[in-house]
Amino acid sequence: MARPPSDVIAAIATAPGRGGIGVVRISGPNLSALAATLGGKVPEARVACFTRFRSADDGLIDEGLLLYFPAPNSFTGEDVIELQGHGGPVVMQLLLARCLELGARLAEPGEFTRRAFLNGKLDLAQAESVADLIEASTAAAARSAVRSLTGSFSKEVHGIVERLIDLRMLVEATLDFPDEDVDFLAEARALERIQTIASELEALLDRARQGSLLRSGLHVVLVGQPNVGKSSLLNRLAGEERAIVTDIAGTTRDALRETIQIEGIPLHITDTAGLRDTTDEVEKIGIARTWQEIERADVIVRLVDVRAGLTDADAAIDARLPAGVERITVFNKVDLAGHDAKRVDADGAVSLYLSAKAGQGIELLRAELLRVAGWHRHGEDIILARERHLIALREALACIHRALDNRHALELMAEELRLAQEAVNEITGEFTPDDLLGVIFSRFCIGK
Ligand code: GDP
Ligand code: ZN
Repeated sequence: MARPPSDVIAAIATAPGRGGIGVVRISGPNLSALAATLGGKVPEARVACFTRFRSADDGLIDEGLLLYFPAPNSFTGEDVIELQGHGGPVVMQLLLARCLELGARLAEPGEFTRRAFLNGKLDLAQAESVADLIEASTAAAARSAVRSLTGSFSKEVHGIVERLIDLRMLVEATLDFPDEDVDFLAEARALERIQTIASELEALLDRARQGSLLRSGLHVVLVGQPNVGKSSLLNRLAGEERAIVTDIAGTTRDALRETIQIEGIPLHITDTAGLRDTTDEVEKIGIARTWQEIERADVIVRLVDVRAGLTDADAAIDARLPAGVERITVFNKVDLAGHDAKRVDADGAVSLYLSAKAGQGIELLRAELLRVAGWHRHGEDIILARERHLIALREALACIHRALDNRHALELMAEELRLAQEAVNEITGEFTPDDLLGVIFSRFCIGK
């Protein structure tokens, strides 16, 4: 792996704004001289040292603590200096400017974590979980991120890689000694072991999918004719008056989005302009946007006024909905029809009867949204996965299945096992190309 660049980087590590303290972090090779200049004396390693931070002309900038972490016992694996001053934006800028004056350059987003990765302090999945932990928007997401950060996901990934390496050695040995009497593979129960890896990958993928839900949530789009109660339903789900509700058809002309949480899963719910034939130009634009939203949906909730039932207009909407996307039909306004709320499952096509306005049956909709999302409450063992991890796990699983299909063509089997290992390795970054690293770390905040 390429060695990290060895210049000195600095950044304000604490959040912008005012706080009790603020931290400037510096990383690079051989920082003891810089630490001595900033601290007024050579600091003891890993001991908080009270310091007056001074400018080039000896003016006082701030007083605070200086911490010096010599390599390799630091976050980045390089020498690291932390300056803890008062957490005001101006004083932090002055401290940072002083560091730049002394030869540091401003760190790029994620550059500290990138160096930690390049120096083997963290693998890639752990490095990503640093960003995930910082960005976690729910307690469940934060718990999951910190578990990945401490390496529990990486450990499972490594376990699979090790088992793949064992198998590959076995298959390659069999290829190298084709005339041996013993059937190495049968003896070592190779096929069973490949099956086991396939099940492990499937289980991991399932937990990763749950984590991906927790992390990114689900896009839900409410569609239906004007006045069926889409905006009322969004309000009800969001628990506040967000969308404008009126009884004039065509009021919601633009898409309104609201993010709510159900059991910690973020649901991005979009209310849309009612779908109908119209000559109103503004309304037409709203309807065009609705179709764009529908293209991006994970789940479509189609609303119908229970009193009118499914009409030709609903059938026309239905025919245009993309195939393969989950849908739930809601018969709304049961309060006006004297019905009770209920759930009807007709060969997998689920309909809910509820009242957006009166609130009856809303819990049925919440449960149904989680069900179609595939959420099954794994609890603590979910993995806060990124799309990249899901792709790698799916790819590895596909290779394993092909390896099993090629049980009578050992060369092909060996190659598929190699590809599976490569895919799994990408998760922890063993075979990750530089440009991908650039993409991953550029999404971090500066100072991390
Ligand atoms: P949208 O055009 O589909 O967004 O429909 P709105 O949410 O704006 O609702 C249209 C009208 O139907 C408003 O007067 C709502 O108060 C009313 N409405 C919506 N849902 C219900 C319901 O469940 N019961 C009753 N009685 N009225 C409802
Ligand atoms: Zn509306």
